[in-house]
Amino acid sequence: MSELVAQLKAVCAPERVSDKLADRICYTRDAGPSPGGIPGVVVRPITPEEVAGVLKIANEMHTPAFIWGRSTTFIGLGIQTGCILMALDMMDKILEIDLGSKVIAVEPGAVWHSVDVELQKLGWELGVPGPGGMFSCTIGGSVAYNAVPHALAEYGMTGNHVVGLEVVLPDGEIIHTGSGSNEAAGHLHFERYANGPDMTGLFVGSYGVFGVITKVYFRIRRIPDVEMFAFYGFPNFEQAVDAAQAIQRQEAATHMVGLFGGPKPANYDAHDAFLHIVVRDSRAAAPDRLRVTEAVCESFGGHPLDNNSTRLYWEGHMYSWLRNTPPAHYYGNRPFMCPEVAGFMPTAKVKDAIAYLRNDAIEHADEFAQHDIRVKCYDVYFSGNAAFIWIDTLYPELDEEAWKYGLALRSRYTDELCRRYMSPGGILQAISPEVMTKLGAGFDFLKHLKRSLDPNFILNPGVMYLEPEVSHA
Ligand SMILES: Cc1cc2nc3c(=O)[nH]c(=O)nc-3n(C[C@H](O)[C@H](O)[C@H](O)COP(=O)(O)OP(=O)(O)OC[C@H]3O[C@@H](n4cnc5c(N)ncnc54)[C@H](O)[C@@H]3O)c2cc1C
Repeated sequence: MSELVAQLKAVCAPERVSDKLADRICYTRDAGPSPGGIPGVVVRPITPEEVAGVLKIANEMHTPAFIWGRSTTFIGLGIQTGCILMALDMMDKILEIDLGSKVIAVEPGAVWHSVDVELQKLGWELGVPGPGGMFSCTIGGSVAYNAVPHALAEYGMTGNHVVGLEVVLPDGEIIHTGSGSNEAAGHLHFERYANGPDMTGLFVGSYGVFGVITKVYFRIRRIPDVEMFAFYGFPNFEQAVDAAQAIQRQEAATHMVGLFGGPKPANYDAHDAFLHIVVRDSRAAAPDRLRVTEAVCESFGGHPLDNNSTRLYWEGHMYSWLRNTPPAHYYGNRPFMCPEVAGFMPTAKVKDAIAYLRNDAIEHADEFAQHDIRVKCYDVYFSGNAAFIWIDTLYPELDEEAWKYGLALRSRYTDELCRRYMSPGGILQAISPEVMTKLGAGFDFLKHLKRSLDPNFILNPGVMYLEPEVSHA
């Protein structure tokens, strides 16, 4: 047994530390196509003190430590061969539901949907329904990623609902943020913007490079009375984008998804683009809001379609219903891999992005055919004032040339769209060189923060391209 493994077993129980290959190979990469590495040892801490102990050992032994939620991301966790892999799945408890402060305290490894289910038994829910991976992703990973959730139009981002955090810094120090940072008041987490600058924000969307989130204090709400649905087809994508922007101005939709590429919803080939709309509100207010969305769609040439697929999509959070097809039909066509590109842009720029993507697919039609590249979607979640696009191109997983082409396509789209107007909603190791280097002085500031907090660069190194040896390569 190596010295590293022996020390980790002294901090965590021996049965929660493994250097067996059969265990380690389960933790090499996320759900995307980027190759990862095989960790040297896997450790499953159950307390913040154990996390702190692991990080102290990582510093002493100059061994990188990577954080693992449920690895449901697509953009490369950057796991390095020989690293310490810290899996947080055993820190999965709901610690407190405080209906007075409307805050839930949760350990980071709790699976998103399992937490929501417990709240729903009380007639409450998490402040956002979660990202599409809600049935398998963790609360901690989703906060660290600042995942783009369903109901983005009305409820905003995952990070908007974080009231406070408990975080273990790379040197093993344990801190609280927001109102909870006052130790004398007993770490009461009820207000984020308290006790000085917004330290919570430093860890939201920082992909674990500044610390390990060990508790999340998240806003909850009463479940609204009713949910109503609309589904519209448009003669061209420009009119669909105009309709979405007008609905944003009216603040009428809770959730709004645009379909601008990939297979059209079954039975609706005659239309060029589509909007699915969900409204949640009181019995009194919801019908009026829905009527506003319908009137806007029709004024921009929209044609009402059967909204049952919108309802099925929303109630089951199953993407297949966006295209009016059951899950087996949609997911059965495998093995394909998805080098996803995703990011925010001003709503009006969606027109430019869709024109670019459609033209690109035509221009490269021969190459797409040669590598069996399939456009799964150019879909958009509309937020309150902007748009989040996700571009899914699939390649056959077992074909090495297609894999190379798929990764190159991801780099090309990321580079091209980020040079124009896109800000990625998720960064991670696979695209950080294309993204971070465009941030100018902001990139230098983040590198400075990383160096201050993690001078040995042991925590999630390479994930945001902040290390000197990586940045200057
Ligand atoms: C079917 C499907 C649909 C999806 N839909 C969406 C979507 O709509 N919107 C969206 O944004 N994403 C989506 N995703 C991607 C992914 O599910 C989410 O981003 C999710 O929030 C990641 O959670 P995770 O627990 O798997 O994190 P991981 O993938 O394990 O980790 C993500 C990053 O955070 C770090 N991290 C994990 N836990 C912690 C912690 N406790 N403290 C500090 N750092 C940590 C990791 O090291 C890593 O860098 C989807 C994925 C799938 C499979």
